[in-house]
Amino acid sequence: MPSSTHIISFCQSLLRTHEYEDHCHNGVQVPGKTEVFRIALGVSASKAFLQEASHWNADLCLVHHGLIFGTIDRIDDILAGRLRILLEKNIGLAGFHLPLDAHELVGNNIAIAELLGLENIEKCDIGWIGDLSQKMEFPAFIRLVEESLGTKAPFAENFGTAFVQRVAIISGGASDYSQYAMSLGADTFVFGELKESAYHHLKERGLNFVAGGHFATERLGIQRLGEVLQKNFPDVEIRFFDEEVEI
Ligand SMILES: [Zn+2]
Repeated sequence: MPSSTHIISFCQSLLRTHEYEDHCHNGVQVPGKTEVFRIALGVSASKAFLQEASHWNADLCLVHHGLIFGTIDRIDDILAGRLRILLEKNIGLAGFHLPLDAHELVGNNIAIAELLGLENIEKCDIGWIGDLSQKMEFPAFIRLVEESLGTKAPFAENFGTAFVQRVAIISGGASDYSQYAMSLGADTFVFGELKESAYHHLKERGLNFVAGGHFATERLGIQRLGEVLQKNFPDVEIRFFDEEVEI
């Protein structure tokens, strides 16, 4: 069976993690078993995910939101609880954050752009901007986003044009990027999580938006990474563990 080191360096080279400055370490966050039979995939290293992975006897967890963001000066009760689950069974964990948003094949944002059927796409920070092949009324566009993400969008507002054509997509907590999205000519901005202050900026700029949910806009990348891993490591059992998270 492949080693954990081999699998993680495969991910790092596929995602070109060295190109990113990130507040989440893109690689091993908790060392575990050397040999890997089972990989559990998840969006966030939540206690619920780690418990399911542990019950399934995963050897390695791969997540988009790792255990540690920024620098820490102590292990609090939440982190201790999560670490305990991993350390009890010697399960390793690696996180892949911004590189997994931005990647041109397996990234969260390219997955959404493809599902929305955007054409002429160009890079837009860690996301993409592109055009719908045909203009669409805003309510129909909300339905398209919801069908693509497989969930109800927590917030959406028709602050700008009645029809949607040019769409910017940045997954996760990107609601502050309205000025940037407009500077690229977007009439509609799809992101994950809405901040209250950003809501007013979107309104005052007259930019349509669909906040699809942080979790929902970041479920696809880790699953795509899993598909690539399955092709390259066919003997390893790989499973995505979903969670009901509506923000
Ligand atoms: Zn995120």
